[in-house]
Amino acid sequence: MPDAVVILDSENHIEWCNPMAERFLGIDGGKDAGQPIINLVRAPDFAAYVQQGVYGEPLELKLARSEELILSLRVIPYGQDQKLLLCRDVTQASRLETMRRDFVANVSHELKTPLTVVNGFLETLVDGRIKFTESRSREVFGTMQHQTDRMLRLVEDLLTLSTLESSAGLSVEVEIDVGALLQGLLDEGAALSGGRHRFLVECDAPAVIVGSDAELRSAFGNLVANAIHYTPPGGEVRLSWCIRDSGDGEFTVADTGVGIEPRHIPRLTERFYRIDHSRSRETGGTGLGLAIVKHVLTRHQATLEILSEPGRGSRFSAIIPGRRLKSAVTRSQPRVLKVALS
Ligand code: ADP
Repeated sequence: MPDAVVILDSENHIEWCNPMAERFLGIDGGKDAGQPIINLVRAPDFAAYVQQGVYGEPLELKLARSEELILSLRVIPYGQDQKLLLCRDVTQASRLETMRRDFVANVSHELKTPLTVVNGFLETLVDGRIKFTESRSREVFGTMQHQTDRMLRLVEDLLTLSTLESSAGLSVEVEIDVGALLQGLLDEGAALSGGRHRFLVECDAPAVIVGSDAELRSAFGNLVANAIHYTPPGGEVRLSWCIRDSGDGEFTVADTGVGIEPRHIPRLTERFYRIDHSRSRETGGTGLGLAIVKHVLTRHQATLEILSEPGRGSRFSAIIPGRRLKSAVTRSQPRVLKVALS
Protein backbone atom coordinates (compact mmCIF):
# COMPACT_ATOMS: atom_id res chain seq x y z
CA MET A 1 0.00 0.00 0.00
CA PRO A 2 1.57 3.33 -1.03
CA ASP A 3 -0.10 5.28 1.79
CA ALA A 4 0.74 5.12 5.46
CA VAL A 5 -1.91 3.60 7.72
CA VAL A 6 -1.96 3.71 11.53
CA ILE A 7 -4.72 2.28 13.72
CA LEU A 8 -5.20 4.34 16.89
CA ASP A 9 -7.31 3.53 19.94
CA SER A 10 -9.68 6.01 21.59
CA GLU A 11 -6.73 7.60 23.47
CA ASN A 12 -4.68 7.96 20.27
CA HIS A 13 -2.32 5.14 21.21
CA ILE A 14 -0.82 3.18 18.34
CA GLU A 15 -2.42 -0.25 17.86
CA TRP A 16 -0.93 -1.13 14.49
CA CYS A 17 0.81 0.51 11.56
CA ASN A 18 2.04 -0.50 8.12
CA PRO A 19 5.63 -0.18 6.79
CA MET A 20 4.85 3.10 4.99
CA ALA A 21 3.77 4.66 8.30
CA GLU A 22 7.08 3.56 9.82
CA ARG A 23 8.86 5.27 6.94
CA PHE A 24 6.84 8.49 6.78
CA LEU A 25 6.28 9.04 10.50
CA GLY A 26 9.42 7.44 11.93
CA ILE A 27 7.49 5.08 14.20
CA ASP A 28 8.13 1.39 14.86
CA GLY A 29 5.05 -0.85 14.62
CA GLY A 30 6.49 -3.40 17.07
CA LYS A 31 8.27 -1.26 19.64
CA ASP A 32 5.88 1.69 19.65
CA ALA A 33 2.59 -0.23 19.89
CA GLY A 34 0.61 1.12 22.83
CA GLN A 35 2.44 4.50 22.80
CA PRO A 36 0.53 7.78 22.30
CA ILE A 37 1.23 8.79 18.71
CA ILE A 38 1.63 12.47 19.58
CA ASN A 39 4.63 11.58 21.77
CA LEU A 40 6.34 10.01 18.79
CA VAL A 41 5.30 12.29 15.92
CA ARG A 42 6.29 15.55 17.49
CA ALA A 43 4.64 18.46 15.72
CA PRO A 44 2.21 20.87 17.45
CA ASP A 45 -0.11 20.97 14.41
CA PHE A 46 -0.26 17.19 14.31
CA ALA A 47 -1.04 16.89 18.03
CA ALA A 48 -3.81 19.49 17.75
CA TYR A 49 -5.27 17.76 14.68
CA VAL A 50 -5.30 14.26 16.15
CA GLN A 51 -6.77 15.43 19.45
CA GLN A 52 -9.44 17.76 18.08
CA GLY A 53 -11.97 15.03 17.33
CA VAL A 54 -13.33 16.68 14.13
CA TYR A 55 -11.57 15.54 10.98
CA GLY A 56 -13.27 17.23 8.03
CA GLU A 57 -10.19 18.52 6.24
CA PRO A 58 -6.85 16.74 5.83
CA LEU A 59 -3.80 18.25 7.49
CA GLU A 60 -0.74 19.12 5.42
CA LEU A 61 2.38 18.57 7.45
CA LYS A 62 6.13 18.99 7.15
CA LEU A 63 7.91 16.99 9.81
CA ALA A 64 11.14 18.22 11.38
CA ARG A 65 12.75 14.79 10.86
CA SER A 66 12.41 15.06 7.10
CA GLU A 67 12.17 18.63 5.84
CA GLU A 68 11.91 17.35 2.28
CA LEU A 69 8.74 15.38 2.86
CA ILE A 70 5.28 16.96 2.78
CA LEU A 71 2.52 14.71 4.08
CA SER A 72 -1.25 14.94 3.88
CA LEU A 73 -2.86 13.32 6.94
CA ARG A 74 -6.42 12.38 7.55
CA VAL A 75 -8.07 10.71 10.53
CA ILE A 76 -11.15 8.55 9.94
CA PRO A 77 -13.03 7.36 13.03
CA TYR A 78 -14.16 3.74 12.76
CA GLY A 79 -15.27 0.75 14.84
CA GLN A 80 -15.65 1.35 18.54
CA ASP A 81 -13.74 4.55 19.26
CA GLN A 82 -10.89 3.52 17.02
CA LYS A 83 -9.33 5.74 14.41
CA LEU A 84 -7.59 5.16 11.16
CA LEU A 85 -4.80 7.62 10.46
CA LEU A 86 -4.07 7.78 6.74
CA CYS A 87 -1.05 9.62 5.50
CA ARG A 88 0.02 10.28 1.92
CA ASP A 89 3.19 11.77 0.43
CA VAL A 90 2.11 14.97 -1.37
CA THR A 91 5.60 16.49 -1.70
CA GLN A 92 5.53 16.57 -5.49
CA ALA A 93 1.98 17.90 -5.80
CA SER A 94 2.61 20.54 -3.16
CA ARG A 95 5.83 21.65 -4.85
CA LEU A 96 4.05 21.91 -8.20
CA GLU A 97 1.31 23.97 -6.63
CA THR A 98 3.87 26.35 -5.09
CA MET A 99 5.64 26.63 -8.45
CA ARG A 100 2.34 27.36 -10.21
CA ARG A 101 1.46 30.07 -7.68
CA ASP A 102 4.93 31.64 -7.90
CA PHE A 103 4.79 31.53 -11.69
CA VAL A 104 1.45 33.36 -11.89
CA ALA A 105 2.71 35.94 -9.37
CA ASN A 106 5.95 36.43 -11.34
CA VAL A 107 4.26 36.80 -14.73
CA SER A 108 1.77 39.29 -13.28
CA HIS A 109 4.59 41.25 -11.69
CA GLU A 110 6.67 41.24 -14.88
CA LEU A 111 3.74 42.51 -16.95
CA LYS A 112 2.52 44.98 -14.38
CA THR A 113 5.62 47.18 -14.41
CA PRO A 114 5.65 48.00 -18.15
CA LEU A 115 1.86 48.20 -18.24
CA THR A 116 1.88 50.73 -15.41
CA VAL A 117 4.37 52.91 -17.30
CA VAL A 118 2.39 52.78 -20.55
CA ASN A 119 -0.90 53.34 -18.74
CA GLY A 120 0.51 56.36 -16.90
CA PHE A 121 1.57 58.03 -20.13
CA LEU A 122 -1.72 57.19 -21.87
CA GLU A 123 -3.72 58.69 -19.00
CA THR A 124 -1.74 61.92 -19.28
CA LEU A 125 -2.23 62.02 -23.05
CA VAL A 126 -5.97 61.30 -22.85
CA ASP A 127 -6.38 63.87 -20.08
CA GLY A 128 -4.88 66.45 -22.46
CA ARG A 129 -4.14 69.01 -19.76
CA ILE A 130 -0.39 68.64 -20.10
CA LYS A 131 0.84 69.60 -23.53
CA PHE A 132 4.01 67.81 -24.56
CA THR A 133 6.62 69.51 -26.68
CA GLU A 134 7.56 67.63 -29.82
CA SER A 135 10.79 66.31 -28.37
CA ARG A 136 9.05 65.27 -25.13
CA SER A 137 6.36 63.51 -27.20
CA ARG A 138 9.03 61.57 -29.04
CA GLU A 139 10.58 60.61 -25.72
CA VAL A 140 7.22 59.50 -24.28
CA PHE A 141 6.30 57.43 -27.33
CA GLY A 142 9.81 55.97 -27.35
CA THR A 143 9.41 54.86 -23.72
CA MET A 144 5.99 53.40 -24.44
CA GLN A 145 7.38 51.47 -27.39
CA HIS A 146 10.26 50.20 -25.27
CA GLN A 147 7.82 48.97 -22.61
CA THR A 148 5.49 47.28 -25.11
CA ASP A 149 8.54 45.60 -26.71
CA ARG A 150 9.40 44.28 -23.29
CA MET A 151 5.91 42.86 -22.81
CA LEU A 152 5.98 41.34 -26.27
CA ARG A 153 9.33 39.63 -25.61
CA LEU A 154 8.01 38.30 -22.34
CA VAL A 155 4.87 36.91 -23.95
CA GLU A 156 6.92 35.40 -26.79
CA ASP A 157 9.25 33.67 -24.31
CA LEU A 158 6.26 32.43 -22.31
CA LEU A 159 4.70 31.00 -25.46
CA THR A 160 8.00 29.32 -26.39
CA LEU A 161 8.19 27.74 -22.94
CA SER A 162 4.59 26.64 -23.09
CA THR A 163 5.08 25.07 -26.55
CA LEU A 164 8.19 23.27 -25.32
CA GLU A 165 6.32 21.97 -22.29
CA SER A 166 3.18 20.90 -24.04
CA SER A 167 4.78 18.88 -26.84
CA ALA A 168 6.25 15.70 -25.41
CA GLY A 169 8.95 14.97 -27.98
CA LEU A 170 10.65 16.63 -30.92
CA SER A 171 8.26 16.80 -33.84
CA VAL A 172 10.79 17.41 -36.58
CA GLU A 173 14.33 16.12 -36.39
CA VAL A 174 16.80 17.26 -38.99
CA GLU A 175 20.53 17.08 -39.54
CA ILE A 176 22.16 20.29 -38.35
CA ASP A 177 25.65 21.06 -39.55
CA VAL A 178 27.60 22.33 -36.55
CA GLY A 179 29.90 24.53 -38.65
CA ALA A 180 26.97 26.35 -40.24
CA LEU A 181 25.27 26.60 -36.86
CA LEU A 182 28.35 28.24 -35.33
CA GLN A 183 28.67 30.63 -38.25
CA GLY A 184 25.02 31.67 -37.89
CA LEU A 185 25.42 32.19 -34.15
CA LEU A 186 28.57 34.23 -34.72
CA ASP A 187 26.81 36.48 -37.25
CA GLU A 188 23.85 37.06 -34.94
CA GLY A 189 26.13 37.62 -31.94
CA ALA A 190 28.30 40.10 -33.81
CA ALA A 191 25.19 42.03 -34.88
CA LEU A 192 23.88 42.11 -31.30
CA SER A 193 27.22 43.21 -29.91
CA GLY A 194 27.53 45.99 -32.47
CA GLY A 195 31.32 45.81 -32.38
CA ARG A 196 31.62 46.02 -28.61
CA HIS A 197 33.04 42.52 -28.13
CA ARG A 198 35.69 40.28 -29.62
CA PHE A 199 34.42 36.95 -30.94
CA LEU A 200 36.29 33.71 -31.35
CA VAL A 201 34.90 30.53 -32.85
CA GLU A 202 36.56 27.11 -32.65
CA CYS A 203 35.28 23.94 -34.24
CA ASP A 204 37.40 21.06 -33.04
CA ALA A 205 35.51 18.27 -34.81
CA PRO A 206 33.05 19.01 -37.60
CA ALA A 207 29.83 17.12 -36.94
CA VAL A 208 26.14 16.95 -37.58
CA ILE A 209 23.61 17.08 -34.76
CA VAL A 210 20.28 15.31 -35.22
CA GLY A 211 17.59 17.39 -33.58
CA SER A 212 15.32 20.37 -33.90
CA ASP A 213 17.09 23.13 -35.80
CA ALA A 214 14.84 25.92 -34.56
CA GLU A 215 15.02 24.83 -30.93
CA LEU A 216 18.79 24.37 -30.82
CA ARG A 217 19.39 27.65 -32.65
CA SER A 218 17.15 29.43 -30.15
CA ALA A 219 18.83 27.77 -27.13
CA PHE A 220 22.39 28.36 -28.30
CA GLY A 221 21.42 31.87 -29.42
CA ASN A 222 20.20 32.58 -25.88
CA LEU A 223 23.58 31.52 -24.47
CA VAL A 224 25.40 33.78 -26.93
CA ALA A 225 23.06 36.72 -26.21
CA ASN A 226 23.64 36.26 -22.46
CA ALA A 227 27.41 36.19 -22.94
CA ILE A 228 27.15 39.52 -24.77
CA HIS A 229 24.73 41.07 -22.27
CA TYR A 230 26.78 40.10 -19.24
CA THR A 231 30.19 41.00 -20.67
CA PRO A 232 31.26 44.64 -20.60
CA PRO A 233 32.44 46.21 -23.86
CA GLY A 234 35.95 45.15 -24.85
CA GLY A 235 35.42 41.62 -23.49
CA GLU A 236 35.64 38.35 -25.38
CA VAL A 237 32.97 35.83 -26.34
CA ARG A 238 34.21 32.42 -27.47
CA LEU A 239 32.00 29.82 -29.18
CA SER A 240 33.40 26.33 -29.44
CA TRP A 241 32.46 22.80 -30.41
CA CYS A 242 34.35 19.63 -29.61
CA ILE A 243 33.75 15.93 -29.14
CA ARG A 244 34.45 14.65 -25.63
CA ASP A 245 36.28 11.36 -25.02
CA SER A 246 32.88 9.89 -24.10
CA GLY A 247 31.72 10.58 -27.67
CA ASP A 248 29.30 13.32 -26.57
CA GLY A 249 29.38 16.68 -28.32
CA GLU A 250 30.12 19.85 -26.36
CA PHE A 251 28.94 23.27 -27.49
CA THR A 252 30.38 26.00 -25.29
CA VAL A 253 29.88 29.72 -24.99
CA ALA A 254 32.57 31.26 -22.81
CA ASP A 255 32.81 34.93 -21.92
CA THR A 256 35.10 37.22 -19.96
CA GLY A 257 32.17 39.01 -18.34
CA VAL A 258 30.81 39.71 -14.88
CA GLY A 259 30.71 36.05 -13.82
CA ILE A 260 28.36 34.38 -11.35
CA GLU A 261 28.74 33.54 -7.67
CA PRO A 262 28.59 29.76 -7.04
CA ARG A 263 25.44 29.98 -4.89
CA HIS A 264 23.39 31.26 -7.85
CA ILE A 265 24.46 28.61 -10.35
CA PRO A 266 22.03 25.80 -9.38
CA ARG A 267 19.08 28.22 -9.68
CA LEU A 268 19.89 29.96 -12.98
CA THR A 269 17.56 27.83 -15.10
CA GLU A 270 14.55 28.58 -12.87
CA ARG A 271 12.04 30.82 -14.57
CA PHE A 272 12.54 34.49 -13.69
CA TYR A 273 15.64 33.80 -11.61
CA ARG A 274 17.99 36.73 -12.07
CA ILE A 275 21.06 37.73 -10.13
CA ASP A 276 20.92 41.41 -10.96
CA HIS A 277 17.39 42.50 -11.85
CA SER A 278 18.30 45.94 -13.10
CA ARG A 279 21.07 44.62 -15.36
CA SER A 280 18.73 41.98 -16.79
CA ARG A 281 16.10 44.66 -17.44
CA GLU A 282 18.65 47.02 -19.04
CA THR A 283 19.66 44.31 -21.50
CA GLY A 284 16.04 43.51 -22.30
CA GLY A 285 16.19 40.17 -20.48
CA THR A 286 12.98 38.37 -19.57
CA GLY A 287 14.53 36.00 -17.01
CA LEU A 288 13.28 33.08 -19.11
CA GLY A 289 16.24 32.54 -21.45
CA LEU A 290 18.01 29.84 -19.47
CA ALA A 291 14.71 28.13 -18.62
CA ILE A 292 14.14 27.82 -22.39
CA VAL A 293 17.71 26.55 -22.87
CA LYS A 294 17.21 23.87 -20.21
CA HIS A 295 13.92 22.71 -21.74
CA VAL A 296 15.37 22.49 -25.24
CA LEU A 297 18.40 20.55 -24.03
CA THR A 298 16.26 18.15 -21.99
CA ARG A 299 14.19 17.46 -25.12
CA HIS A 300 17.44 16.50 -26.85
CA GLN A 301 18.54 14.34 -23.87
CA ALA A 302 21.30 16.91 -23.49
CA THR A 303 22.54 18.68 -20.34
CA LEU A 304 23.80 22.13 -19.40
CA GLU A 305 27.06 22.62 -17.51
CA ILE A 306 27.88 26.02 -16.01
CA LEU A 307 31.28 27.11 -14.77
CA SER A 308 31.80 30.64 -13.60
CA GLU A 309 33.85 32.91 -11.41
CA PRO A 310 32.69 36.38 -10.36
CA GLY A 311 34.67 39.03 -12.20
CA ARG A 312 36.41 36.47 -14.45
CA GLY A 313 33.65 35.26 -16.76
CA SER A 314 31.36 32.31 -17.40
CA ARG A 315 31.27 29.15 -19.44
CA PHE A 316 27.96 27.57 -20.45
CA SER A 317 28.29 24.16 -22.12
CA ALA A 318 25.54 22.12 -23.77
CA ILE A 319 26.47 18.44 -23.75
CA ILE A 320 24.79 16.65 -26.66
CA PRO A 321 24.66 12.85 -26.35
CA GLY A 322 26.83 10.97 -28.86
CA ARG A 323 23.80 9.13 -30.27
CA ARG A 324 22.54 12.47 -31.62
CA LEU A 325 25.74 13.07 -33.60
CA LYS A 326 26.35 11.86 -37.11
CA SER A 327 29.19 11.50 -39.61
CA ALA A 328 32.37 13.56 -39.90
CA VAL A 329 33.00 12.86 -36.21
CA THR A 330 36.75 12.71 -36.63
CA ARG A 331 39.09 14.26 -34.12
CA SER A 332 41.04 16.94 -35.90
CA GLN A 333 43.23 19.85 -34.93
CA PRO A 334 41.41 22.86 -33.46
CA ARG A 335 40.16 24.96 -36.30
CA VAL A 336 39.30 28.64 -36.06
CA LEU A 337 36.35 29.35 -38.33
CA LYS A 338 36.29 33.08 -38.18
CA VAL A 339 37.43 35.75 -35.82
CA ALA A 340 35.49 38.99 -35.73
CA LEU A 341 37.43 41.73 -34.02
CA SER A 342 35.77 44.78 -32.62
P1 ADP B 1 17.83 37.11 -18.50
O1 ADP B 1 16.76 37.38 -19.48
O2 ADP B 1 17.68 37.90 -17.23
O3 ADP B 1 19.21 37.20 -19.09
P2 ADP B 1 18.29 34.23 -18.32
O4 ADP B 1 17.36 33.13 -17.92
O5 ADP B 1 18.87 34.16 -19.68
O6 ADP B 1 17.54 35.59 -18.03
O7 ADP B 1 19.49 34.24 -17.27
C1 ADP B 1 19.20 34.22 -15.89
C2 ADP B 1 20.25 35.01 -15.13
O8 ADP B 1 21.50 34.32 -15.20
C3 ADP B 1 20.53 36.39 -15.69
O9 ADP B 1 19.63 37.35 -15.20
C4 ADP B 1 21.95 36.64 -15.20
O10 ADP B 1 21.91 37.12 -13.89
C5 ADP B 1 22.57 35.24 -15.20
N1 ADP B 1 23.40 34.99 -16.39
C6 ADP B 1 23.04 34.31 -17.51
N2 ADP B 1 24.05 34.24 -18.39
C7 ADP B 1 25.10 34.87 -17.82
C8 ADP B 1 26.46 35.12 -18.22
N3 ADP B 1 26.94 34.71 -19.39
N4 ADP B 1 27.24 35.81 -17.35
C9 ADP B 1 26.77 36.23 -16.15
N5 ADP B 1 25.50 36.02 -15.72
C10 ADP B 1 24.68 35.35 -16.53
